[in-house]
Amino acid sequence: MCIRDKPYCTACNKDLTTVTAYDDETTELTYTCACGHGETVLLKEFDHGKLVWKVDWPMRWAFEGVIFEPSGVDHSSPGSSFQVGGQIVGPIFGGEQPIGPMYAFVGISGMAKMSSSKGGVPTPGDALQIMEAPLLRWLYARRKPNQSFKIAFDQEIQRLYDEWDKLDAKVADGTALPADAAAHSRAVRTAAGELRRTPRPLPYRTLASVVDITAGHDEQTLRILSDLDPANPVTSLDETRPRLDKAEHWINNQVPAESRTVVRDEPDTETLASLDEQSRASLRLLLEGLDEHWSLDGLTTLVYGVPKVLAGLEPDAKPTPELKVQQRAFFALLYQLLVGRDTGPRLPTLLLAVGADRVRKLLSA
Ligand SMILES: [Zn+2]
Repeated sequence: MCIRDKPYCTACNKDLTTVTAYDDETTELTYTCACGHGETVLLKEFDHGKLVWKVDWPMRWAFEGVIFEPSGVDHSSPGSSFQVGGQIVGPIFGGEQPIGPMYAFVGISGMAKMSSSKGGVPTPGDALQIMEAPLLRWLYARRKPNQSFKIAFDQEIQRLYDEWDKLDAKVADGTALPADAAAHSRAVRTAAGELRRTPRPLPYRTLASVVDITAGHDEQTLRILSDLDPANPVTSLDETRPRLDKAEHWINNQVPAESRTVVRDEPDTETLASLDEQSRASLRLLLEGLDEHWSLDGLTTLVYGVPKVLAGLEPDAKPTPELKVQQRAFFALLYQLLVGRDTGPRLPTLLLAVGADRVRKLLSA
């Protein structure tokens, strides 16, 4: 026992004791206790007490014969308890240090506010409000325990979902690498069976954009989601749940107000009046093509194609660096006229969400 260890009080059996004197020569130790008791004992005989943590841990390894004990990475830095324990478990206790895989930290990125958790620490329940269980499980399953990672509450969640959907498609057509397929399998089922999945898993970023723009208005949301792929329309929002609900919760609780999309009520007359002939022509081409291209794929072709046509290229021409500059300028103009900023949700989704009539109203120069 060293001087920082705590004797248990012999009167009340608690460790509310303070060592007031210790003599190395005789091992005489004097303590007082919060209960009022106090005495002097001989440490070489007295065994009523507890060890400090760094000595206690290796004592237990030796006493219990521990051969395997995982712990957090914070216990493995130089001078930390796992390291010190490894140095003294042999010489002092005659035991061996167990194998101890170290768990790395799981962080979070961009959590706006806590809903259910206390003390600033998010719970799995917080994550499950914005993502489906298989995605959260996959974040863990695809890493080794000693690799750290973050759970995204910010925009990164959209990229993660894209990655997950790609893997899902590869697993479905049998082209996933074995390690990726194994992580996927652990993510989508437990020993008790398959986890609930969204019957029609539309891209999370699309769902998020749509609920952002419709402010969760069900009828409007269904109208837009049906327009995404007119050949195979969504007929009920239930097909897109629970993913739709997760995206809605994310938009409402994690996306800051200044990043939300607000579609203009009235045209930006000032910008419209200042447009050069080239910009006016680009808007005309877009409006003329709307009806014919009213689907996600169609509008994608249209918005990328307008700058090509204006540059005298075929709609399917490969983009040159110069053309890319023109496309960016065209997109920035559309964002300005539709939502009053220079960025926003992907344009095809935004156009579908705004609706053809309102697009015409806002883009007519
Ligand atoms: Zn006491």
